[in-house]
Amino acid sequence: MRRKTKMIHGGVTGDEQTGAVSVPIYQVSTYKQDSVGNHRGYEYSRTGNPTRAALESVIADLENGKAGFAFGSGMAAISTVMMLLDSGDHIVMTDDVYGGTYRLMTKVLNRFNLNHSYVDTSYPEKAEAAITDKTKALYVETPTNPLLKITDIAKMAEIAKKHDLLLIVDNTFATPYWQQPLDLGADIVLHSATKYIGGHSDVVAGLVAVHSSELAERIHFIQNSVGGVLGPQDSWLLMRGIKTLALRMEAIEANTKKIVEFLQGHDQVSSIYYPGLSDHRGHDIALGQAQGFGGMISFDVGSGERAEKVLKTVKYFTLAESLGAVESLISLPAKMTHASIPADRRAELGITDGLIRISVGIEDSEDLVEDLKQALNE
Ligand SMILES: *Cc1c(COP(=O)(O)O)cnc(C)c1O
Repeated sequence: MRRKTKMIHGGVTGDEQTGAVSVPIYQVSTYKQDSVGNHRGYEYSRTGNPTRAALESVIADLENGKAGFAFGSGMAAISTVMMLLDSGDHIVMTDDVYGGTYRLMTKVLNRFNLNHSYVDTSYPEKAEAAITDKTKALYVETPTNPLLKITDIAKMAEIAKKHDLLLIVDNTFATPYWQQPLDLGADIVLHSATKYIGGHSDVVAGLVAVHSSELAERIHFIQNSVGGVLGPQDSWLLMRGIKTLALRMEAIEANTKKIVEFLQGHDQVSSIYYPGLSDHRGHDIALGQAQGFGGMISFDVGSGERAEKVLKTVKYFTLAESLGAVESLISLPAKMTHASIPADRRAELGITDGLIRISVGIEDSEDLVEDLKQALNE
């Protein structure tokens, strides 16, 4: 099955019994048993729900895995995966991971003696150097937010294998349409499905996919024990979103390239972060491990004052956190998504006050470019 076909025909797609071409929303918590302990595959919806199960089969297929899991948020998915580790274990992580993941590690899981080291995994040798005898996993986000740093997934898989570690990849920015980490050797791939997979700014959800049945069993056990599952209505919305994921990603890719072209020629823009640029560090790796570069662009306009003026003046870019929706979004990482990171740490990472991040939507690219043009020239 080719990639676009898979978005439509991957996993469970309809209802055998009625012929409905959309999976019904099984708004139910419990299931009648035919006799004591004798049920038809479902007994309680935390453990399993037919609508969620259909979505879970879809994400497994999209990621070329064998099992999938759906959670009430990306953070619920990440927390569940982290619970595969034991107290005293250590994990090596990409240093500019999503802020919520950073918070989970430094303010919550640290209290359970789950330790971590942040390294710039775009240099895999730095990740390898950070491995200790307690290290049990490598955790990679690629591309990252907001500087779109690229980590070589296959190389990280090699290191993981050599040291007998799990490789976990947050694939939110790339989506399963453009990048398939399990094929590159990752053990676990996860998503904030709130972003591109849902795609319409109307669901908060998380997804996980794995190859190994042993890992699948352990994750299902934790999912059922901890209970952060996705409800049937939201599971259905994600399946609906996935039907157009290919179309949206292609439209976003085309729009993004047009916007980058415009920004490159603008004298107020000092640097542009986009993996599709040949001078972006990691461009060649992105080209090799993904089929597209995605719809995120960050660019520097020189000062926080100028950046805020741009944000105030744009018409078609909605000022909001989050990303990956049909509508274009604009944000100021230093004051919004990354405000909780100390200023010196922000500076170290390269997140300047004048750095604007946009998540490109599917509007007419001409409108988006004209809008940025008027905002930058104001
Ligand atoms: C948003 C996001 C998350 C967290 O997901 P939620 O659905 O908001 O809980 C994790 N990783 C990345 C890369 C994200 O962008």
